[in-house]
Amino acid sequence: MIIIKTISEIRRYISDISDKKTIGFVPTMGSFHEGHISLIKKCVEKNKESICSLFVNPKQFNEKEDYEKYPYDLEKDIKIISKTKCNVLFAPSKEEIYPQNNITKKYDFDGIEKILEGERRPGHFNGVGIILEKLFDLIKPYNVYFGEKDFQQCVIVNKLIKQKFKEINLFTCETIRDKQGLALSSRNKLLSFEEKQASYLIYESLINAKKNYNKISIEKNKKNIYNKLNSHELIKVEYVDIRKKNNFEVLNDFDTKNQVIILVAVKVGKIRLIDNITI
Ligand code: AMP
Repeated sequence: MIIIKTISEIRRYISDISDKKTIGFVPTMGSFHEGHISLIKKCVEKNKESICSLFVNPKQFNEKEDYEKYPYDLEKDIKIISKTKCNVLFAPSKEEIYPQNNITKKYDFDGIEKILEGERRPGHFNGVGIILEKLFDLIKPYNVYFGEKDFQQCVIVNKLIKQKFKEINLFTCETIRDKQGLALSSRNKLLSFEEKQASYLIYESLINAKKNYNKISIEKNKKNIYNKLNSHELIKVEYVDIRKKNNFEVLNDFDTKNQVIILVAVKVGKIRLIDNITI
């Protein structure tokens, strides 16, 4: 695996690839765990040229403190990713990506950027749009890999691709969890022991809601998740939502024809976690 840190070098690397259809790409913010590795392995399996980016994108953080606390250890990540067969790790600095820091681009993702995560984290998906457009332009991938854990982000990426990168194929990959069901996340590393114990309630309540999907009303199901999570003293629920998975429309009544997704966001202590389950 080679490590590239500059825009000029990644440009050179990409321009030397004659068949751009061989390029698979996994964008990340590092602090690698098995969730990231599962995407990288899928990418390696299907593409002759597998490229992973590691960039903690300041533009998608709406809280300075969250950005400053975000775990970053390049040497450790290099050791982890070296065990995969990924060809390139692109790990640029902030100055390389945003030399002037004056990007004011505004994206319209059909309103999806304003709801749920977008509502609680204003500007987040705009920041995601800015970095992904930049990375897709640079790397010119044919296949890209994203995790379902961040399902709303997958919806946004799908819209970005439809708007500006029609040649790209999006692959959404299943959420990797620990033994207790907690979705792996770089932010989990910031949880105390007690907070981690509390976090196990998230998946437990989603599994419960899935079991109850046909038995109680959508409203009652949402309320149950909300109450179960909020009853823990370390957890504060931000939202519980149930939507159609294919078009992200709100679900008010049972839908037995289409896949349905339940999404939650909570704060455990100061750490914000999201998760979802498909029905
Ligand atoms: P991040 O570094 O958090 O920006 O994540 C990079 C990519 O890994 C995104 O597409 C995430 O959705 C994906 N990802 C993060 N956590 C998991 C997980 N537990 N399982 C599968 N994919 C994940």
